[in-house]
Amino acid sequence: EEKIRRIDSAKDKSRAREKDSARLKVEENVFDVSTLKLLYTISNKGIIKALGGSISTGKEANVFYAEGSEKELAVKIYRITSGTFNAMDVYIMKDPRFTNIRNNKRDIIFAWTRKEFQNLKRAKSAGVRVPEPMLAEKNILIMEFMGENGVSYPLLKNTPLEGDEIKLVYDTIVEYMRLLYKEANLVHADLSEYNILIDPNDVTPIFIDMGQSVTLEHPNAREFLYRDVQNILRFFSRYGIRDKPEELLTKIQAE
Ligand code: ADP
Ligand code: MN
Repeated sequence: EEKIRRIDSAKDKSRAREKDSARLKVEENVFDVSTLKLLYTISNKGIIKALGGSISTGKEANVFYAEGSEKELAVKIYRITSGTFNAMDVYIMKDPRFTNIRNNKRDIIFAWTRKEFQNLKRAKSAGVRVPEPMLAEKNILIMEFMGENGVSYPLLKNTPLEGDEIKLVYDTIVEYMRLLYKEANLVHADLSEYNILIDPNDVTPIFIDMGQSVTLEHPNAREFLYRDVQNILRFFSRYGIRDKPEELLTKIQAE
């Protein structure tokens, strides 16, 4: 039924991934020698049993599937040779946890990777469903794979919601934003239907992609929170949700 349909649509993506797997050798060319060496070192330590195909090629990072010793893993590799890193400065330089990093690209990327690891840890401790981070070393982040049998759970964007699911997913997202804010002292800062997965087994959201998440001390934290709120409201307006941004902000910032 519904669940099967969702898994089927996820499988279409998986086929694309299998094709990608053949291209891994080619894609490896996007990585510098030190990244490849680090990947082999991590593999030799036994954390990764086998590196699988590409899940995603983003602006700043590639995500690969991997088999771990106990469970499936996602390996997010930030490219050293990426042109878009100036955008990172805003998020990292003013974060009190990262004020003393040197102003060069490699160090910013390494700090960014550690930051995503720490943000995922904090989010998880706060009770937000996120991939459990396992290791951050230089530009490589290894985390729990959110999916089944090598197929990532679908994005909220690609998951049609029906009936009770709408309110359930929306309310859980708002609750996660509140937990992030109140318990983890964090604002996601890139929250949208593109960075939320839906577990088709129980139709619940999973937050991902937290490299840019900032602590509340960050001078732009309020602005980022407001943008997150607007993104969520814009997406859910298609499902008839008409909450006001101010209402949502109050809920998130409530005790
Ligand atoms: P980007 O910065 O490129 O947007 P994301 O962290 O959003 O990177 O990851 C890109 C895509 O990779 C996601 O949309 C998702 O499909 C997949 N992905 C990322 N992390 C995981 C994970 N832990 N488990 C399964 N799939 C993941
Ligand atoms: Mn993303």
